[in-house]
Amino acid sequence: MNCPKCNQPMKLGFLPVYRGRLYWAPEPERVPLLIDIKPKDSIVLSDYTLSLPLKAEAHYCRTCKMVIMHEKNHETSEDFTENPFI
Ligand SMILES: [Zn+2]
Repeated sequence: MNCPKCNQPMKLGFLPVYRGRLYWAPEPERVPLLIDIKPKDSIVLSDYTLSLPLKAEAHYCRTCKMVIMHEKNHETSEDFTENPFI
């Protein structure tokens, strides 16, 4: 995947998710006190977890210092074979 800002190749990696779930939420939604609740109209980026750590795949551009990731279950054309957690 190339960076949409500078068009250089992005580095594939991941964001670790140790408890709860990783999501994007619109302003002015608040962060819920309970980890099993997600804000209205939020977009889930990683599955919910309480025990085993999970990971959310993401691309990083070193030039622009920017991370881009897809919604959970989004299919990518690139293979990610290393899995340090599972
Ligand atoms: Zn860039």
